[in-house]
Amino acid sequence: MSDIIQLLPDSVANQIAAGEVIQRPASVVKELVENSIDAGASSIIVRVKDAGKTYIQIIDNGRGMSDTDTRLCFERHATSKISDANDLFAIRTMGFRGEALASIAAVAEVSVKSKNAENELGTHVRISGSRIESQEKEGTPTGTNITVKNLFFNVPARRKFLKTDQTELRHIITEFNHAALAYPDIEFQLIHNNAQIFNLQAGKLKSRISGIFGKQIIQNLINLETETSIVRISGFIGKPEYAKKTYGEQFLFVNQRFMRHPYFNKAIMKAYEEILPRDHFPSYFLFFETDPASIDINIHPTKTEIKFEDERSIWQILQAATREAIGKHNLSPSLDFSREGVIDIPTLTKDQDISIPRENINPAFNPFENESRSPGQGDPGRKDAHRDWQKLYDSRNNSDLSPGLDFDASENKKPVAETRYLQLKGKYILTPVKSGLMVIDQRRAHIRILYEQNLATLRRDSVNAQNTLFPETIELNPSDYKLCLDLVDEIGKLGFEIRDFGQNCVIVHSIPANTAIHDIKSVIETFLEQYKNFESEMKLDQHEKIARSTAVASAINYGKQLDNKEMQEIVDQLFACSNPNTTPGGKVILNIVKLEDFEKHLA
Ligand code: ADP
Ligand code: MG
Repeated sequence: MSDIIQLLPDSVANQIAAGEVIQRPASVVKELVENSIDAGASSIIVRVKDAGKTYIQIIDNGRGMSDTDTRLCFERHATSKISDANDLFAIRTMGFRGEALASIAAVAEVSVKSKNAENELGTHVRISGSRIESQEKEGTPTGTNITVKNLFFNVPARRKFLKTDQTELRHIITEFNHAALAYPDIEFQLIHNNAQIFNLQAGKLKSRISGIFGKQIIQNLINLETETSIVRISGFIGKPEYAKKTYGEQFLFVNQRFMRHPYFNKAIMKAYEEILPRDHFPSYFLFFETDPASIDINIHPTKTEIKFEDERSIWQILQAATREAIGKHNLSPSLDFSREGVIDIPTLTKDQDISIPRENINPAFNPFENESRSPGQGDPGRKDAHRDWQKLYDSRNNSDLSPGLDFDASENKKPVAETRYLQLKGKYILTPVKSGLMVIDQRRAHIRILYEQNLATLRRDSVNAQNTLFPETIELNPSDYKLCLDLVDEIGKLGFEIRDFGQNCVIVHSIPANTAIHDIKSVIETFLEQYKNFESEMKLDQHEKIARSTAVASAINYGKQLDNKEMQEIVDQLFACSNPNTTPGGKVILNIVKLEDFEKHLA
């Protein structure tokens, strides 16, 4: 048999390799900005069009390149940053693998103009799909100006995978922010379709943070500083009382490189553990300085996953430093965030018979018989569910199932229907049913109700009633701001009237009438956070995603006190739902404590 192995041409090898480093326009922005940082630039301008899909330009005033280097930089493994394997243990630059430009040039049309200080004239090289198209001398300022057009023009499969402009732009903003936060002493600009999104002056970290996230954030920050033999940690953490229901602003950097590090994130969260309500997340902007030899940044092509020699010790140091910083500002440790509802149990009079009437039990009744229906599946069970609910109560009128609850003995001894419900711990609605005591999770029930209402509204393309508010301005981070503006039309149908106010701010004029009006900002933030969580779930359509996330955002919270009428309403609406048993996310909403169980306990 003849030989069948052949070496792939460079252009093909580059294209394959590009898949690892360049996934989307944001990857190009990341790599090019990092190159500008490594070139010692003090000003970096990022200009994109159509979320980078058609056009990305990075202009820096760094040291630039010689004629030969401007041509050579597109070769695979062409780098000026390391020259032998030992250098891998002393990396101080953002790049070092020498594959970014080769990868980008393999999958786009690239034009680079560069000049270093020694030369009068610069060099202009054009390369497309790894093929050099032209190279000529050209007048250009010292520094590098690189343009990447029509990304993935020759890899249609990749181009197809790109998300909407909004999503891709958000990824770009994320990468841009990482670089801008890590290098506050560099001036950064981001321009999209000729509109300036960021114009960040060189300065200190604090003003960089406020330049990106808005002035408000400054008052939330606590300084953190600690130095040990293995790591120096500095930066800011958020005051606990400003923690939000969104992950939002959580950033870890090591030697000025952004890193994803769930393990260290846990250390920080642990320090906040006892002082934050559940589902709240503190902001943090923390910078580690450590000996490059003690970390491995080469474990992932995008270099955001970083391995530390001594992770456990750093975990301890980080956790202790966070605790200490919180403590120093005298904000810990006993802030009480619990807002428990008052337990309102009607009192019994001595002569009331509280024995349980066995004859009313219908052991055959199964309130969960619709359970097999999967959440969110149309309406088929709606009627049944409602009938079952009636069934649960069938014998209520002539029963004394719940004497303490059904009769107000202190008054005129006639049944008082409104006292059918009891709220427990601001969390559960209790109500007697034939087979025992039904326990309903109030928040989950409300999520199910809102979800079905919202979904129906969106599908019918009708409009929900609104609560008009005193207009409230909310400042969001740039990517949430973009997302919010993308969704205003859809959520407008649900009754959220939101308008652009510029400068990362939106104005909320109204919210849906069925929304528990608490903190509007947190409603919007929770909605956006939820929506982002669902964004990658292919099986959910846009209406599902919006219905689910608005439901979670607007549902009543635990701790919300409910009167009888409100509990009645929730219960009635819940049982009008197609699936009252679980939330759209699959959490159990209700259960029944059986009479037999009571009997066991009281035997
Ligand atoms: P790496 O950054 O890993 O070295 P790249 O492919 O990103 O690999 O870049 C290759 C080389 O091109 C760099 O090592 C650097 O010498 C040069 N280079 C790239 N971008 C710039 C720039 N903006 N200014 C000066 N030199 C640059
Ligand atoms: Mg590079």
